[in-house]
Amino acid sequence: MNTMDAVVNAANAAGRVVRAVITRAPVRVTEEVKAERLRECVQRSGQCFDAESGRCRVCLCFVKLKAGLATERCPKNFWPEIR
Ligand code: SF4
Repeated sequence: MNTMDAVVNAANAAGRVVRAVITRAPVRVTEEVKAERLRECVQRSGQCFDAESGRCRVCLCFVKLKAGLATERCPKNFWPEIR
């Protein structure tokens, strides 16, 4: 994945947030869910998670930001389902 792919990913993520706002769907997850998601990422430091940059090596997203959004999913399905 290159920088252009990362830009496209970020634009798509922003589009999902806008769509959620328009349709009044949840935009944010609870702090508990966000923490669970981040735990999954951190457990994979050196694998799919780059701890130095704080980015996912698969989608290049900044996981602290991504993990808080209900509109986002882990590209490897490592995150727990939203309850
Ligand atoms: S693949 Fe999933 S678990 Fe791994 S860093 Fe990306 S979002 Fe986190």
